[in-house]
Amino acid sequence: MSDPSRPTDPDPTWGTATLGVRAGEMRSEFGEHSAAIHATSSFVFDSAEAAARRFSGDEPGLIYSRFTNPTVQGFERKLAAMEGGDTAVATASGMSAILALLLATLRTGDHLVAAQGLFGSTTGLLNNIIGRFGVETSYVAPADTDGWRAAVRPNTRLFLAESPTNPLCELTDIPALADIARDVGVLLAIDNCFCTPALQKPLDLGAHLVLHSATKFLDGQGRAVGGAVVGDAKIVGEDVFSVLRTAGPCMSPFNAWIFLKGLETLAVRMQAHCERAERLAAWLDAHPAVERVYYTGLPDHPQHALANAQQSAHGAIVAFDLRGGQAAAFRLINATRLFSITANLGDTRSTITHPPTTTHYRIGPELRAKAGINDGLVRLSVGLEDSDDLIKDLDRGLR
Ligand SMILES: *Cc1c(COP(=O)(O)O)cnc(C)c1O
Repeated sequence: MSDPSRPTDPDPTWGTATLGVRAGEMRSEFGEHSAAIHATSSFVFDSAEAAARRFSGDEPGLIYSRFTNPTVQGFERKLAAMEGGDTAVATASGMSAILALLLATLRTGDHLVAAQGLFGSTTGLLNNIIGRFGVETSYVAPADTDGWRAAVRPNTRLFLAESPTNPLCELTDIPALADIARDVGVLLAIDNCFCTPALQKPLDLGAHLVLHSATKFLDGQGRAVGGAVVGDAKIVGEDVFSVLRTAGPCMSPFNAWIFLKGLETLAVRMQAHCERAERLAAWLDAHPAVERVYYTGLPDHPQHALANAQQSAHGAIVAFDLRGGQAAAFRLINATRLFSITANLGDTRSTITHPPTTTHYRIGPELRAKAGINDGLVRLSVGLEDSDDLIKDLDRGLR
């Protein structure tokens, strides 16, 4: 780095861990080793002429932190490098990343195809808010590749999927969906919240766009709410950025600093989460009180091979059905001590949830049955405690 103020250009041969630590790093004149927080709402100009050139776009540079901010740009560069995208735009939350993408790519009269069982607020956004502006959504089972093709209409512009899904960890065959998207000329966006670029790179698998709730594993310590859209220089760098800069759901410099520090440890944290989750899934699978475990890391999971093809590990989310239904699920949840009873995920602290009465309560019994969400379902987000302690805690709860 000859010029210390310039961000490190990632080497194309670097792995995801190296990119997380080194990519997009930028130094001020003080030569700080760890990224600085640029807590400023605006930037000054040398002269009226310089201000005019910045505003007209004749001269690149910083103007106002709703548009761009160096700390936020540091997070965006690191994440874009890790996902293998040209550029990233950071947003105030995961939901505002999805909103910004929809506003940037759709107009009244357009149609999109989305995966059934998307994150609840995403479905609410599509049905109750975007729907009011004359954009229609069709839903298809995430793994039903032919169903995606069949749902395409002349006005379809976007495919939107999460892989794996919450809470049952169903996968979408991303390369197959990307082939269909290219065939029919629609954009494919993948919400990569559960895997993160440490485990899965949707752009390498053929997707056009990646969505993130940075609130989850990118932070990884449950401290801040944020999001991002990653993709190419035109759709993300121009279209999404222009929505964000005008509509304003931007990320604060302080939160961007938390997330960029989170990215530095993402690869090793995800590895540790996955090791623990794999142990817990295998232990639960052998437990007599457990009817079924939903974890693609188990060799008999129907999508085990697909998971191995598109992910480098199986993630931190483990769901399972208890034989005793809701009563057994509540007994377990109330008896555990180490697991926090909260719907959040992607934290150092393991969490335990009963999806049918919390995150998936509002969709009603009929849609729950259709989605395969049984009354005895329990979802874990496996944190970074010792797996022996987590197993002891579950064992007590199941007895
Ligand atoms: C949490 C979550 C979101 C929304 O993110 P926020 O940061 O809470 O706005 C979107 N998609 C998935 C898969 C999530 O888990």
